[in-house]
Amino acid sequence: MQENSPQKAAPGASGAESETITADICVIGAGSGGLSVAAAAAAFGRKVVLIERHKMGGDCLNYGCVPSKAMIAAGKRAHAMRTAAAFGIAGVDPEINPRAVHDHVHGVIAAIAPNDSVERFTGLGVRVVRAAARFVDKATVVAGEHRIKARRFVIATGSTPLVPPIPGLDSVPYLTNETVFDNQERLHDLIIIGAGPIGLELAQAHSRLGSRVTVVEAAKALSKDDPELTKVVLEQLAAEGVNVREGTKVERVEAGLGRVRVHVAIGDKKDVIEGTHLLLAVGRKPTTADLGLEAAGIRYDNKGIKVSAGLKTSNRRVFAIGDVAGGLQFTHVANYHAGIVIRRALFRLPAKVDTRIIPWVTFTDPELAHVGLSEAEATKVAGKISVLRWPYHENDRAQAEHETAGHIKVVTAKNGQILGATIVGAQAGELIQMWALAISQKMKIKAMIGWISPYPTLSEINKRAAYRYYATAPSSPMVRKVIGFLAKFG
Ligand SMILES: Cc1cc2nc3c(=O)[nH]c(=O)nc-3n(C[C@H](O)[C@H](O)[C@H](O)COP(=O)(O)OP(=O)(O)OC[C@H]3O[C@@H](n4cnc5c(N)ncnc54)[C@H](O)[C@@H]3O)c2cc1C
Repeated sequence: MQENSPQKAAPGASGAESETITADICVIGAGSGGLSVAAAAAAFGRKVVLIERHKMGGDCLNYGCVPSKAMIAAGKRAHAMRTAAAFGIAGVDPEINPRAVHDHVHGVIAAIAPNDSVERFTGLGVRVVRAAARFVDKATVVAGEHRIKARRFVIATGSTPLVPPIPGLDSVPYLTNETVFDNQERLHDLIIIGAGPIGLELAQAHSRLGSRVTVVEAAKALSKDDPELTKVVLEQLAAEGVNVREGTKVERVEAGLGRVRVHVAIGDKKDVIEGTHLLLAVGRKPTTADLGLEAAGIRYDNKGIKVSAGLKTSNRRVFAIGDVAGGLQFTHVANYHAGIVIRRALFRLPAKVDTRIIPWVTFTDPELAHVGLSEAEATKVAGKISVLRWPYHENDRAQAEHETAGHIKVVTAKNGQILGATIVGAQAGELIQMWALAISQKMKIKAMIGWISPYPTLSEINKRAAYRYYATAPSSPMVRKVIGFLAKFG
């Protein structure tokens, strides 16, 4: 692999001597998207510069997916201990040590961190620069004492927690996803503003770890998902004592005597919710500030950098990927974007983003997973559709595990083309993968009955749902009878 070629250049504006680096690809941001581009480009022998101003691994490793899933796992253990009686084992109220939970969460981060480290990327042949990057013209980025000139740039600067303009918030201590995982004390009475996936995942985890939790949501909880299935998640949260208050608008907040008071309006009615801690989970803001986007001729707005379906910005040298490019904000989306940029920038292939094949999962218990079109979207696109459902309680493994809440809902076109799937229930995030494959490969529902599912597994739910297509399709009564029988016993 070739080395990057540093040259000494004239002193920079600061007066310090600057180094000019030339590269094939300069990546800004070492989070999920940036790391994937850098690793792949280096593997193909390209000269790569990767610039990171803060922590290697970005949000996912340090403040997002990894710590949240580690905390959810801790909460799951506590819940399993409390509910063990169903299995003939005396349930106990576990003693929870917030400091030890913190150490577990940070232990998981530390175990994964070497994969994203400067050492690993330097070993892959990537030149890693630890500084804030900023465009100074259409083809030059400055980072610390370095000037980087590259044939292609990739902006992968992610997003930060949105802090809404709530009156009083500037004088009230609050947590966000950037601080909540550093907490080492019990959050006795936690108020979370925002009932999206992040708000509800953290609500359930904290509740299971001993906090009393109230979630305040101006509109509907999990509003991006199908209410038929989100209902199952919300029922479970309510059963566990998480108070999710939908249609409740925060008007102002105040603090005093160790308490936080959130003043809310529910229609015409007013109320005050009191707690010990406040956590904001109202959305994400793309990181576009201080990047010199104007100098580079890159268009953006408050939703993110404007990109084409091929992830090109208004500057033809520059791509934008992941959270900063707007759209769905997930690690696997940032990785998917990275693959598209590699195909376009390195091999000039006409790769484009196809949002219809992107799955997502909310890691509450039960999990909520979706891919493709919802029932409403499918009806708009395809007109007449089939809706196929199968409940967890009809699955033998779910019965053995006492995880019978939930169901799958699949929508197909009249000709059996699979258009979308949503699952709420245990391991929905695993079960959805088969449907993600089916939709990405444009499969018909017939393919989903042409495989053998090992017994007893939750994945049998997928096959049972597929059988429903034939049980409800207008074929001969005899075929319907046979398929109906197989769906029940086959
Ligand atoms: C609590 C929480 C839980 C989540 N859980 C999941 C989950 O379970 N599954 C999932 O798929 N997604 C999850 N996400 C979303 C996921 O974390 C993001 O979608 C993902 O990290 C986006 O990757 P990215 O590469 O776009 O940005 P990031 O990972 O945020 O990386 C951007 C990097 O750019 C750096 N940077 C910014 N500006 C500059 C600059 N000017 N110069 C140099 N460096 C700069 C930042 O420091 C950062 O390291 C979660 C998010 C949160 C907040």
